[in-house]
Amino acid sequence: MAQPMSPPVPAEANPSNWSIEDSEELYRVPGWGDPYFSINTAGHLTVSPQGDRGGTLDLYELVQSLRQRSLHLPLLIRFPDILQDRIDRLNSAFSKAIGRYNYKGAYRGVFPVKCNQQRHLIENFVRFGERHQFGLEAGSKPELMIAMAMLHTPGALLVCNGYKDREYLEKAILARRLGKNCIIVLEQVEEVSEVIAASRRLGIRPVLGVRAKLSTKGEGRWGISAGDRAKFGLTVPEIVEAVEMLREADLLSELQLLHFHIGSQISSIKVLKDALREAGRVFVELAQLGADMKFLDVGGGLAVDYDGSKSNFYASKNYNIQNYANDVVAEIKDCCDAACLAVPTLISESGRALASHQSVLVFDVLSVSQVPRSTPGPVGADDPVLLRNLNEAYQALTPDNFQETYNDVTHFKEQAVSTFNLGYLSLSDRARAEQIYWATCWKIRDYVSKLDDVPEDLEELATIMASTYYMNLSLFQSAPDMWAIDQLFPILPIHRLEEEPTERGTLADLTCDSDGKIDRFIDLRDVKSVLELHPPRYQGGRLEPYYVGMFLAGAYQEIMGNLHNLFGDTNAVHIVLTPQGYQIEHVVKGDTIQEVLGYVQYKADQLVESIRLQTEEAFQQGLITLQESQLLLQSYERSLASYTYLSST
Ligand SMILES: *Cc1c(COP(=O)(O)O)cnc(C)c1O
Repeated sequence: MAQPMSPPVPAEANPSNWSIEDSEELYRVPGWGDPYFSINTAGHLTVSPQGDRGGTLDLYELVQSLRQRSLHLPLLIRFPDILQDRIDRLNSAFSKAIGRYNYKGAYRGVFPVKCNQQRHLIENFVRFGERHQFGLEAGSKPELMIAMAMLHTPGALLVCNGYKDREYLEKAILARRLGKNCIIVLEQVEEVSEVIAASRRLGIRPVLGVRAKLSTKGEGRWGISAGDRAKFGLTVPEIVEAVEMLREADLLSELQLLHFHIGSQISSIKVLKDALREAGRVFVELAQLGADMKFLDVGGGLAVDYDGSKSNFYASKNYNIQNYANDVVAEIKDCCDAACLAVPTLISESGRALASHQSVLVFDVLSVSQVPRSTPGPVGADDPVLLRNLNEAYQALTPDNFQETYNDVTHFKEQAVSTFNLGYLSLSDRARAEQIYWATCWKIRDYVSKLDDVPEDLEELATIMASTYYMNLSLFQSAPDMWAIDQLFPILPIHRLEEEPTERGTLADLTCDSDGKIDRFIDLRDVKSVLELHPPRYQGGRLEPYYVGMFLAGAYQEIMGNLHNLFGDTNAVHIVLTPQGYQIEHVVKGDTIQEVLGYVQYKADQLVESIRLQTEEAFQQGLITLQESQLLLQSYERSLASYTYLSST
């Protein structure tokens, strides 16, 4: 299935002087996308899955060719090469830091399976991580079972976190007999006596760690994962108690790891440094209490720059991977040197930073609803005074009075509604009033768009006048964090980028839920409420395909997505670079309607049978023809096997 790389199409004549550089800047592509995403001269988004080291694919062309293979949108496109590049980058940052600080220990990262448990992805992690002895981290029994079965790399670590029962502990201890480097991290006081008991029962000595509840508080959305009252980990008195219990059970020499995790998406490097210092001290003290300390696990939290602002805003980070690695290495070295203690093997559990970039979600726009834009008809002396007032304001609009006019027409429009509600304005006059109002707003928007500084009372205009782009997507399935915790992901059209996006829009999804919308977008400063989009183009009354991509959403979204309104998993494909172009490595078909109905306990054959009986009865009563009943049944059965999303062809 090798595909030749298509040459870029020459850009069309461009009357507005808009360039692809303008698009790059507007959508902040270099900020969040470098080195993987860019825009070519055809105005298409491109993907360079191996960064600057390999070929480039035209994402738009790729989507077109996938559609020709009946892979319908919404479509999740994974680029395993990006995953590999992320793993290589993280490891090379740590080896550079280790060299620079002359650190006498190693780095052995682990990937937290919870971030994305999809089998193909975990397989790739293990494969790409092999040369770095990269391991896996499990946070639950099912994840442990994945990790045990999938991780074969000699020397790689399997860090066992999360709440543990007897079965979990037994499996993790027994897996050492298979040569798995399982380290059981004690997170609860109860787990200490349970692990001692399990070890006695099995006659196998486990390797243990403790998760410390540091006082250093994280920041931002996930900051609550740390601090004295955090949900996880042992407080310092509990750690001391655990040490004594292990000493008594003659297992203290197996306590070898200290773990902490101060939360995901650590935007500010200072927070990390504080935590490292505190953890470094705990580490040293544990060694002095007699534990055989060999590993320090700094948890996850390595952040992703979703808005490309390189700031400590929650959607960004004020450091890069190299800064992160440098700080981890330097701080821990300082702590150990001060205590004349051998430095530990360093572990990080970076999830978001490794898995976010590797997938792109592409969806199509189904329709666009715009604020009315038509030239109002004449208003005469016989028309209601409200209409005459509105019209007068509209006619008198100039670049000098638009702010005042905006306030006037807004007031008149509100009056039109209340007059209508009282029965003094007809439906058609209300329509005319709204038409004049919107015509005025359009003109004002044109004036405002030329200003550098938008007056405060006109700021709302962009939101009020935003078009709604209806997307073939469920936010709840594909980007649940956007809905649940207001997370931001870069979103932009993947073509027409050589053309000025003159529309301002918000995105609405397919669900019948008013929360299923996107009206927060990345911006250099803060967040913007509308996205620049291209005006819809129609061909024979049909909307021309308009594809939009959502980026950096490869971590957490897939597994947290839910079946709201029964929109299921999207189609997914794995695209790998080849010398000739690319190859479709795997196709993972999205859920069919029959599958999502199965999740809620409906059986397809029973549903079909119910429809069959009903058509039969309707036929007996003369309500339906035989032909109609067959049509209905066939359509019903066909839909059971089809995609839950709308088909645009
Ligand atoms: C969630 C989690 C991680 C991953 O965090 P990221 O911010 O995605 O790097 C790592 N370790 C633990 C214990 C976690 O709970």
